[in-house]
Amino acid sequence: MRAAVTRGENVMELVELAPPGEPGAGEVMLAPEVVGVCGSDVHLFHGRLGQVFPRIQGHEISAVVQAVGPGADRVRPGDRVAVWPVLACGQCYACRIGRENVCADIAIIGAHVDGALQERLSVPASQVFAVGDMAPAVTAFVEPASIGVRTVVRARVTAEDRVVVLGAGPIGQAVCLAARDRGAAVLLADRVPERLEHARAMGAQEVVRGDAAAVAGPLREWAGDDGVTVLIETTGVPAVVRSALEVTAPAGRLVLVALSHEDVSLPLGDFPIKELDVLGVSCCTADEFAHAVDLVRRHADAVARLITDEFTLEQAADALAHVAGAPPELMKAIIRVAA
Ligand SMILES: [Zn+2]
Ligand SMILES: [Zn+2]
Repeated sequence: MRAAVTRGENVMELVELAPPGEPGAGEVMLAPEVVGVCGSDVHLFHGRLGQVFPRIQGHEISAVVQAVGPGADRVRPGDRVAVWPVLACGQCYACRIGRENVCADIAIIGAHVDGALQERLSVPASQVFAVGDMAPAVTAFVEPASIGVRTVVRARVTAEDRVVVLGAGPIGQAVCLAARDRGAAVLLADRVPERLEHARAMGAQEVVRGDAAAVAGPLREWAGDDGVTVLIETTGVPAVVRSALEVTAPAGRLVLVALSHEDVSLPLGDFPIKELDVLGVSCCTADEFAHAVDLVRRHADAVARLITDEFTLEQAADALAHVAGAPPELMKAIIRVAA
């Protein structure tokens, strides 16, 4: 079978590997069809996540079940599935309180263990969620959508909230979808106009274009007397984080989703004075992943339009370079693993 192996920083090679044997007890063998490429793939490719190479990447996965091991009866051969990439220890503090998505000993499929940029992949049956007849490219968006689901759970978003999402990349779009699904009013802001074109289809009622300084005024105006009760920061840009803290209303929730390697200085007094809840988000729980399957199914047409770029497995390194370059018209790039 063919596999795109990340050998080291910025080095990816297409190689022939022996396929895995029959799935063991509780395992399923998958034939990956489509893998979505995201910012964290680029960080990993550039060696910024402290991972061990070689590694086969790919954590936003649509696949077809090829074979099931003993006891792995939640799916059948032929089922199309989305893959929840979180492998947790089940023992640590986070796992014991139901937050296995931040397990102290977490292994994410496609980051800490091999992912789906290969023609066969065996995973525990607990990771696969049947999606029915959903298209493969749409199915691969379930994983990013699941971050949106997790985000609105963490932020306790209700129909009363005025939710501002800073950054209209795939995660920003996913957050819009999930927040709107809870009945909240949503505003999406970005400096790149092309990214905002998807906003209304993803549930945003208002869009604002501009950098952090330019959008603060319009955000406040839109939020009205209650102010921005929930602010979701998806950019990881220091100036945007500072602005996010400034515009979040007293008693509001400020959620940080971006994986950023930047340092930022913040006026510390704002946290107690406004009694803000500052929340981080990473991956999601199994229940939230199941919810994301349902959310994506109900919005499959809008999600399909987020796919702006397609690559083959041979072009996997090009796909990563393309996403790293962040051209304005890029929303979601996918790699078709199956020819
Ligand atoms: Zn991702
Ligand atoms: Zn754990």
